[in-house]
Amino acid sequence: MNIKTVGVVGAGTMGNGIVQVCAAAGLKVIMQDIAEDAVQRGLDTISSSLDRLIKKEKITEADKQAALSNIETATSLEALADVDIVIEAATENEALKLQIFEQLDKVCKPEALLASNTSSISLTRIAGVTKRPEQVVGMHFMNPVPMMKLVEVIRALQTSDEVYQQIHDLSEFIGKVPVEAKDSPGFVANRILIPMINEAAYVYYEGLASAEGIDEIMKLGMAHPMGPLMLADLIGLDTCYAVIKVLHEGFGDSKYRPCPIWQQMVDAGYLGRKSGRGFYRYDE
Ligand code: NAD
Repeated sequence: MNIKTVGVVGAGTMGNGIVQVCAAAGLKVIMQDIAEDAVQRGLDTISSSLDRLIKKEKITEADKQAALSNIETATSLEALADVDIVIEAATENEALKLQIFEQLDKVCKPEALLASNTSSISLTRIAGVTKRPEQVVGMHFMNPVPMMKLVEVIRALQTSDEVYQQIHDLSEFIGKVPVEAKDSPGFVANRILIPMINEAAYVYYEGLASAEGIDEIMKLGMAHPMGPLMLADLIGLDTCYAVIKVLHEGFGDSKYRPCPIWQQMVDAGYLGRKSGRGFYRYDE
């Protein structure tokens, strides 16, 4: 595999997980976010996550130190000039991602691949703002990244076969299982998952059952490991809202209409686990 260095844009829920699995596999990683405190929080999360793996006797203290020594941090995209691939995991917002990719295209070396961890936004449109559209691809990791095996690999209309193969090989190298999907709103995973979570939000909004009740019904009745509202808190309610809006706008189909509760929760700053409160509370 010819990818040795990775840049990760965004050090949040997904970004720091992607940094962790790449660094643990022996790749050199630069973790970038807009502010110093964001990258510091990312590093702290990686350190605690590796500590949990030590406790479970899955890795040793030496493995942890080796992984951490592979990570550098940065607050500007210029720091990613020499990496072999950038994996973008910034906030789920199309305008923001288009701007980041335009900038990455200018600062990264010509042969570098540009991947996005977007949950729903068109890779074809993202590829279109760069001068290397055949080198742009979706690498959709699942949350929590260190635990979940899947990488949904999304081919933009422009993605070359060679680049697809490189992403396939990289995914396997970092211990994941790549599965190919075409570019379409929400791709495969979130086309199926997010409408279910949106329906659970409606059931809650209509007062048909409590959050605990809804989650128990889906856990005990459908053998889901986690109920849909607790899963929404894990994903981030802002992210769930962004994805259901992409489905609604992308397909123009009222079956994807977003539950009004998303806007209210986001306005209140109740973003789920990452903000300490969502459908459940995590700050007590
Ligand atoms: P998050 O809110 O936890 O983190 C986003 C990070 O992006 C923040 O640290 C923020 O400071 C940073 N950021 C914002 N603007 C930036 C910029 N211009 N440059 C660099 N960094 C910037 O969000 P997340 O859950 O980690 O989601 C990131 C991406 O991953 C989104 O596209 C999301 O759809 C996708 N995703 C999320 C999940 C999930 O379960 N949360 C799963 C798969 C994919």
